[in-house]
Amino acid sequence: MTAQYRGRFAPSPTGPLHAGSLVAALASWLDARAHGGTWLVRLEDVDTPRCVPGAGEEILRQLATCGLVSDEPVVWQSTRAALYQQALDKLVATGRVYPCACSRKDIDSALLAQGVGRERHHSAVYPGTCRPENGGLRGRPARAWRLAVNTSETRVDWSDRRLGPQTQDVAAEVGDFVLRRADGLWAYQLAVVVDDAAQGITHVVRGQDLTDNTARQIVLQRALGLPTPAYLHTPLVMGADGEKLSKQNGAQALDLGDPLVALGQAARTLGLPAAARTTPALALEAWVKAWSA
Ligand code: GLU
Repeated sequence: MTAQYRGRFAPSPTGPLHAGSLVAALASWLDARAHGGTWLVRLEDVDTPRCVPGAGEEILRQLATCGLVSDEPVVWQSTRAALYQQALDKLVATGRVYPCACSRKDIDSALLAQGVGRERHHSAVYPGTCRPENGGLRGRPARAWRLAVNTSETRVDWSDRRLGPQTQDVAAEVGDFVLRRADGLWAYQLAVVVDDAAQGITHVVRGQDLTDNTARQIVLQRALGLPTPAYLHTPLVMGADGEKLSKQNGAQALDLGDPLVALGQAARTLGLPAAARTTPALALEAWVKAWSA
């Protein structure tokens, strides 16, 4: 038993659950139960243009069909702007963030001028044009807010409970990242860090596709004086094309006509033994034991 273990499943309601997201949901639930802890569901609906009306409620129904129910009232990020603003204000006060006027095109031409090529599909490392020491906004209107990633915290070493030691040079590989977007929306990085701390999350269990956000989130936790939870990133479910299954590449909604089938598939991805043909509740109980073993 871990004292006061608090875990969470934090889906973005951009569509119903699919086989991949059920793996993260099941793993986070099993880990919480195996530690005698609390399991929360948080709907990450800050990126409103990508959210689908009704998808959050649908996800909660699907989870309930699988026997996965939040131990505390479900939190919707869209109701928590005041908390995110407070965190940004704190970073403004400590001089850790700065407003940025650059469009994507501005960033590309600044990089080009510096002779830095950009690989296709990779997001650019921000060249620091609007950093206060480089002249700031120079009369241009502010679009986004960026965290100044100091070279002193450039290298973040952390340990994943499944993948082992991880390291990232956040300054070199990511650069000054956005906390509030040009369209006024809160960035995932800020919302997730603020909410994990506000909800007292001690253990984050989520899909492996999110692994390379972790170092950035640790940098932000340190800037805000917040604790860093333990991290475990779960295996991804691959589609027939060998690509990770995601809502974006049209992953099918789960067929929950027989929730044991969907749960059994997720359990297999996690390396858990097949469950006897019983009820979801009994299968979950057996998997908690296997998870703890
Ligand atoms: N909302 C994020 C997603 O669905 C996951 C956030 C997290 O678990 O940290 O991809």
